[in-house]
Amino acid sequence: MRAPHKILGIPADADENAIKRGFRRLAMALHPDRNPDKGAEEKFKAVRAAYEAMLAALRDGEADAELSEANGKPTEPQTEQRGADIHQDIELTLEEAAAGCQKTLALDCSIPCASCDGTGDSGLSRSVMCSHCQGSGRVREDGVLARCGLCDGRGFITSRACNDCSGSGRQSAERHLQVHVPAGVIAGSELRLAGQGKEHPNGGAPGHLFLKVSLLPHPLFHPIGQDLLCTVPLSIFRLLAGGKMEVPVLIGKRKSVTLLPATSLQPEPTRIKGCGLPGRTGQPGGDLLVSWKPVLPTRLTAEQIDLLNAAERALQSNLKKNAPELAAWKER
Ligand SMILES: [Zn+2]
Ligand SMILES: [Zn+2]
Repeated sequence: MRAPHKILGIPADADENAIKRGFRRLAMALHPDRNPDKGAEEKFKAVRAAYEAMLAALRDGEADAELSEANGKPTEPQTEQRGADIHQDIELTLEEAAAGCQKTLALDCSIPCASCDGTGDSGLSRSVMCSHCQGSGRVREDGVLARCGLCDGRGFITSRACNDCSGSGRQSAERHLQVHVPAGVIAGSELRLAGQGKEHPNGGAPGHLFLKVSLLPHPLFHPIGQDLLCTVPLSIFRLLAGGKMEVPVLIGKRKSVTLLPATSLQPEPTRIKGCGLPGRTGQPGGDLLVSWKPVLPTRLTAEQIDLLNAAERALQSNLKKNAPELAAWKER
């Protein structure tokens, strides 16, 4: 595969000035206005693509992400002279989204393959040995030799795919960008990195890079916007008696919650203010919603059964007051 620096005839580690000099030298010779040769225009395109890819790779670096004003809505059409915007996804854990983080992104700045001008087609048919049957034309299937289905028994395959790019039409290149993600983003947030998009072909400002946030699943917390939902199991006895329960939070120490004796077997969720995902600067954060899951014991000791029987006797002693529905049933 021909690397961009080979197309430009400069060292791989050339600095910006050397890249520009290399490009200018070739551009002068190949520019369609100066060079009427057939093929000069094609070569010029390849040289310009290599030049853009090398400049893009030089821009490896770091950038601060800011919450896009468009935030999820489609971006308005570009009016100023800028390079194309890049849209990419970024995956964060809940902790990273809540606290902010640094992420290294690999950005594709591949260019059209110079050998085939991006078509992936070499223009020439050539025969290559069939990799499936190793050129024998036969493969062993269930212990029996059978004709190779890939090459139809010929042992070779006729290919027109470009050798340099294996038919993909692209020469891969990427640059790396350290992104500072601010705290308090949520799923669907769009981050904007000004000037980190594609170069403008005629020297205008580069485009922007937009990152759409998606959140990785968390074992305990499920985000709903800025709120976090957490399901906490509790014993049926604690549910009936009420009392103190500890609940986990995403960041910081566990919180203690006091439950009243239950009036339902499906208790209402408890809302803990400010324990969800944090808000953006100056904005209030979300809440933690605790959904209670009553759990029955899988076994009871004789002593526990005695205690439950005592509780039942106490209930029956004033049924009209303690459980009117049961009292009404008894009188039928
Ligand atoms: Zn074969
Ligand atoms: Zn190619």
